[in-house]
Amino acid sequence: MYYEKYLKYKTKYLNLKNIKMIGGTLSELDSLDVSIKTIILMGEAHTLKTNLIEYNNIIKKQKQIIDLVLSKFGQDKTYCYSEAPKEFRDLALRTDNISSSVISQYTINKIPIKFSNITTCDRENSQCDDKYSDDILSIFDEEPHINCIIAAIGLLHVSELKQFINIKRPDIKIIIVNTVSHKQLLPLNMKEYPALIELLKIESPYELPIENFIVEVLYNKSNEKIYKCPDCQTITGELAPKNPTDTSLFSHRYLCPNKNKIPIEKL
Ligand SMILES: [Zn+2]
Repeated sequence: MYYEKYLKYKTKYLNLKNIKMIGGTLSELDSLDVSIKTIILMGEAHTLKTNLIEYNNIIKKQKQIIDLVLSKFGQDKTYCYSEAPKEFRDLALRTDNISSSVISQYTINKIPIKFSNITTCDRENSQCDDKYSDDILSIFDEEPHINCIIAAIGLLHVSELKQFINIKRPDIKIIIVNTVSHKQLLPLNMKEYPALIELLKIESPYELPIENFIVEVLYNKSNEKIYKCPDCQTITGELAPKNPTDTSLFSHRYLCPNKNKIPIEKL
């Protein structure tokens, strides 16, 4: 009986390890060549604080990417470009209602940020991506010592933007990191964005390592296994122990630190 339990735990644990290995394009960032001028197109979505889970996730991902890039290129050689128009700069640096503002505030403490010169942007009209590409590339002209630009830009712009930059400056290496989760893309009518469909085939969202927590095991009246969160005391139904990686089956209290973590049983 004990051995059976151990085997189950082990399989579960190994599965978790596999999930952790999905690192999106981070491996590409790990092997950056800092002697080549590089633009990191950090595909993002303005995520509101009211959507707390996605908001926290996208902020966490982008901070990781920024930290990793800075550790490679150095703060003195790296610049940030924000899609936020420059007339909203002060607002962007004040509010925390939107993920991109939190990232701007995090970044500006480390490196300079150029806020966008493009004020109105018609997404149907790819000309705005042409303008974005000029706006981003001008950083390399104005600041010749800069070797890397992290451009925090809506995921919908990324494909076109890459093409424009490639045409204008084929010497520049472009790396795309997609921080928008699958869930955030669901409301989009993908048929309207054929370039995005193609992009997502290559650039799946960079997934955060999935964290886990030790859960309390209980049995209900029908002697079926159920779980209890040691922090918020929430008790699950029978499905959660059967599908531990489906975190939607484990509802926690609002601010519980174990929310969205995978429950694992103590040996
Ligand atoms: Zn909990």
